Amino acid sequence: MIKFNAALEKIIDSVEPIESESVRLTGALGRVLAEDIYSDTDIPGFDNSAMDGFAVRSSDTICASSDNAKVLEVIEDIKAGDIAKKTIDHNQAIRIMTGATIPKGADSVIMVEYTKKIQNKPRESIEVYKELAAGENIRKKAEDIKKGELIISRGTLLNCGHIGILASLGRPKIQVVRRPKIAILATGDELVGVGQRLAPGKVRSSNTYTLYSQIVKCGCIPKNLGIAKDIPSQLEKKIRRGFDCDIILTSGGVSVGEFDLVKDVLAKIGTKIKFWQVAMRPGKPLVFGNIGKILIFGLPGNPVSGMISFEVFVRPVLLKMTGQRQDRQIEIEAVLEEDIQKKKGMRYFLRARTRWQNGRYLSRLSGPQGSALLKPMSLANSLVILGESQVFFKKGSKVKVRFLD
Ligand code: AMP
Ligand code: MG
Repeated sequence: MIKFNAALEKIIDSVEPIESESVRLTGALGRVLAEDIYSDTDIPGFDNSAMDGFAVRSSDTICASSDNAKVLEVIEDIKAGDIAKKTIDHNQAIRIMTGATIPKGADSVIMVEYTKKIQNKPRESIEVYKELAAGENIRKKAEDIKKGELIISRGTLLNCGHIGILASLGRPKIQVVRRPKIAILATGDELVGVGQRLAPGKVRSSNTYTLYSQIVKCGCIPKNLGIAKDIPSQLEKKIRRGFDCDIILTSGGVSVGEFDLVKDVLAKIGTKIKFWQVAMRPGKPLVFGNIGKILIFGLPGNPVSGMISFEVFVRPVLLKMTGQRQDRQIEIEAVLEEDIQKKKGMRYFLRARTRWQNGRYLSRLSGPQGSALLKPMSLANSLVILGESQVFFKKGSKVKVRFLD
């Protein structure tokens, strides 16, 4: 039996990054960027108005207030997209809309709200009721992004803001990491499909769907290979259908029962088995190996064991494969709200609810911890991680916690 950290290290060492592909910006959300994006332009590209109002010289507004209006002549109107033809001189203003280029001679913009149109003057004029500082209400050229700046680095998981930047930079297509394709095979004579009637003694293959969802949640592409009976020829045939994938996940049949055949079948079809059984709970009976570039996880069949194994072993693989930072695996410290007794030598991953209260995190179990119990898993927002050596954790002690979302 291998220790958890050693198992994770062996797994991570086997991962090779995968290639990139070009996608349109509309399909880029949630993808991992495979190139560094440098800006080839300043954004904004020119000084422009942050408000609807009048471009003025701030020196013409000195001491202006509601009791002391300054009068300015309006010499031109410009809207966003226009460039003023005239230059502002002493006591002049240009009516300007948000986003329009600041006219020559102006150094600030007064909001419409601080002005009033003067009627019955031969030339259009306004009263100004506020003193402005130079630069007021002007969005400076390059204040958001500078030409030459590394603005989004490779490995970034693209969010809606990144998509906006890429659009502003004129990048209708970008290079992203290909989405890993992951096969799932459920194994077990007792299993039936989710839409099937339950005959006595049978159970529906929930693992197919939990794993499927976990794969989708990681931004990867699942391939459902269905259910295989505990018959070597059938296991072999169905596992082979995952050979076009980057990773194959089998579920069940890796324990020490008479019909736990998966490990032998994997070995027979050429899997280089790197280890079997990890000193952890749940998830002990895990098998890991590879056939060439394909990584193979024989996940335990118990529903919670499979999910936790995915979370702690498969997810880090996907992060490395797609070039993302492992800091998405951050563990925090929380205060335990109950006593917990555990077995020596095993690392525990307990289903828990963790919340922030009075400046610290508090964790309590989300229900009984049997590895077949999906309900506490569904109620959990986090895993409490208890190290191998200690056997008793008192209420109030500090433990490591990892959030599931
Ligand atoms: P095994 O590791 O094959 O002995 O399975 C351990 C337990 O997990 C048994 O109670 C199985 O019925 C259950 N199990 C195995 N595969 C699945 C599955 N795909 N969906 C739900 N339960 C499963
Ligand atoms: Mg089985």
